[in-house]
Amino acid sequence: MLECRNLSVSYGHHRALDNIAVHIAPGEIVVILGANGAGKSTLLQAIAGLVPASDGGQILLDGKSIKNLPPHLIVEAGLALVPEGRRIFGDLTVLENLVLGAYAERARPTEKDNLGRALTLFPRLAERRRQIARTMSGGEQQMVAIGRAMMSAPSILMLDEPSLGLSPILCTELFKALAEIRKTGAGILLVEQNARQGLAIADRGYLLENGRIVGEGSAVSLAGDPAVQKAYLGGVAGGTGRAWPLTPTKPSIAT
Ligand code: ATP
Repeated sequence: MLECRNLSVSYGHHRALDNIAVHIAPGEIVVILGANGAGKSTLLQAIAGLVPASDGGQILLDGKSIKNLPPHLIVEAGLALVPEGRRIFGDLTVLENLVLGAYAERARPTEKDNLGRALTLFPRLAERRRQIARTMSGGEQQMVAIGRAMMSAPSILMLDEPSLGLSPILCTELFKALAEIRKTGAGILLVEQNARQGLAIADRGYLLENGRIVGEGSAVSLAGDPAVQKAYLGGVAGGTGRAWPLTPTKPSIAT
């Protein structure tokens, strides 16, 4: 279980995240929706230890604080991030990229099993295991990035805009893979510009606006909400007639 309570991040005087509360349970897919600049990437980066979180507030993974730990210790604790733009090692083969994902001590004893799982999840990677990664298509490189993250045996997997630039067919394949990953018991925190597909696969979602959570709910209720439809799904439809906030934006777990 990943929980953020009162999480804030500032870049100089700019407060990019303001008292955020989110949680992700094992086996759950949670999507974060928000406009450009809302703070979605900052949220994932703060959780992963890549940008410092402000004083106060907590980030707990399975009850233990991971706030502002060095990134490699956060991976060791069980959290993996697939960053926007993939950032795979272009000059290495697919297999070498995957194996590098298993550097965490927590992953070493099960490296072989994890590799088998990644190659089963993405059969294309199995076929192309000796191919130099930068010669793969964008979608295939995304598979490498996700496969590499899964090699660290995470209990929580975070993905920043994984479908960006992928064809509709590859998007469908990607989202199917996420559904498979959740079956392993990992929780998934997804930032997705493809709100329709994100909500279709997610259990729950949060709406992030100017660094604040302005709504949250089940994926079904969010998808049916006219305000969400207008802002993220490209249209106005029937829905429930509610306006934001969908639920009070209090911390979801009592402190
Ligand atoms: P997008 O969908 O466009 O990627 P986002 O929701 O992921 O946007 P962030 O990248 O988290 O948004 O940015 C949130 C705010 O913080 C923006 O106003 C952005 O300009 C600012 N910001 C992000 N990174 C930095 C940085 N390193 N230094 C200063 N400001 C930053």
